[in-house]
Amino acid sequence: MSAASLVTDLVRAFRAEGRIVIVGASLAGLRAAEALRERGFRGPLTLIGAEPHLPYDRPPLSKQVLVGRVRADHTELPRMRAVDADWRLGVAATGLDRVNRQVRLATGDTVPYDRLLIATGVRARPWPDPAEGALQGVFTLRTRDDAARLQAALRKGPKRVLVVGSGFVGSEIASVCCALGLPVTVTERGGGPLTGPLGGVIADITARMQRDAGVDLRTGVSVHALDGDADGRVRGARLSDGTTVEADVVVASLGSIRNVEWLAGARLATGFWGVGCDAGCRAFDINGVVTDNIFVAGDVVRQPHVLYEYQFISMEHWDNAVCGARVAANNMLSLETERRPHLPLPSYWSAQFGVNIKGVGVCSFADEIVFTQGSPGDYRFAAAYGHRGRTVGAVTFDHGKWLPYYAAMIERSAPFPPPPPGYDRAADSVPVPARFPDPRVPTEIPDVVLTGHDPTSRCAEFH
Ligand SMILES: Cc1cc2nc3c(=O)[nH]c(=O)nc-3n(C[C@H](O)[C@H](O)[C@H](O)COP(=O)(O)OP(=O)(O)OC[C@H]3O[C@@H](n4cnc5c(N)ncnc54)[C@H](O)[C@@H]3O)c2cc1C
Repeated sequence: MSAASLVTDLVRAFRAEGRIVIVGASLAGLRAAEALRERGFRGPLTLIGAEPHLPYDRPPLSKQVLVGRVRADHTELPRMRAVDADWRLGVAATGLDRVNRQVRLATGDTVPYDRLLIATGVRARPWPDPAEGALQGVFTLRTRDDAARLQAALRKGPKRVLVVGSGFVGSEIASVCCALGLPVTVTERGGGPLTGPLGGVIADITARMQRDAGVDLRTGVSVHALDGDADGRVRGARLSDGTTVEADVVVASLGSIRNVEWLAGARLATGFWGVGCDAGCRAFDINGVVTDNIFVAGDVVRQPHVLYEYQFISMEHWDNAVCGARVAANNMLSLETERRPHLPLPSYWSAQFGVNIKGVGVCSFADEIVFTQGSPGDYRFAAAYGHRGRTVGAVTFDHGKWLPYYAAMIERSAPFPPPPPGYDRAADSVPVPARFPDPRVPTEIPDVVLTGHDPTSRCAEFH
């Protein structure tokens, strides 16, 4: 055996030992733990999770759980393999000491690590006025406990539900209300539902879809204040256009906040959009220098993407958490030459108002949109998004079988508009402006965001 291969074997054996700590015991944390054991990691493995529950799946919370088809406590994530680990659940990490390689816990304990994975995700943005947010009947939806509480409130048959914000989760909640026969009002500061992630052309369609389903949709308005009764129960809202809405359940669906506060003082590249890292999931320090032993996966990640001009991208997508966790685990154990990049083509899905919405790419990167297949009037179509003559994203309404075709176009940076895939061509297939809102105009924050190169740009809001 040559000296070089002996060194390689020794380094490989060394990487399979040591202590690994994962902070955030949800989708990304679990899948990373499984991948670490799968790839032969033999050392002690600790998962630290702020929630008391074993990892569960969030997408069903705004769909099957709210509608009452699945219980909130029946959403546990399936295991891909057994994981020998020390699970520290119900306790939050409160600090990171990089010099002594320790995670500090809310209990006052410290947990030493040799390699660390940050997978702390995001939380729901709370209602901005704490007193109004504390009124009975005001909800947010991020956790399984949130879903159980909201579902119990919906089961009681409220007179009207007010959903503030019409991103994917807000729209899904409105859809559930319609399915349950509950009167529902949706307020949206932008021009229509899903304007942020999909632009104004699609928002016109989703607005029609919601109104057809019976939603009282109010666009271009914000909620100024929530009003309560003498018993501290919410009874309605005052809107910016001077109108009021009477509602006994209010769901604030205002987007999310990255869980990075516990990293304050650790001198990592943390901020509004998450933890900056390289395409191999290694965290950047505050100066943009890559760390050797701290990795990041899931919704809390902000990383450069080759397909989008190496701009940093933040994604709140299930697939991204799973793939990122696997890549991070691989790279935690690998030699430099064996490291893999995490370069996902963003992909997402949503079920609302009887329609399956699926998409790939970063649609909000685009300036143009073209309907390529089907019929927008029937809520059954495919549309492609273009940026400077390249195809950069696609969305389908009940047309998901075509997504791999569009994904291949995006991966190849194919010319825009892409060649039609054969049949079922849209009647009107002329590219038009996609009408994404100016980022300075408040609307719902898309769940995939290009946050730019420049930390001083208006998109990258570092603390
Ligand atoms: C209602 C809802 C519906 C969704 N629907 C879809 C969908 O249809 N399609 C799709 O692609 N995606 C969907 N998503 C998004 C998807 O669920 C997320 O992308 C995924 O959960 C990300 O996993 P994660 O592990 O990175 O983060 P999370 O699932 O947010 O987990 C992070 C975990 O870290 C914990 N944590 C935070 N701070 C600390 C700390 N300091 N110490 C210890 N633990 C901490 C949190 O409590 C949490 O348990 C949905 C999300 C929600 C909420």
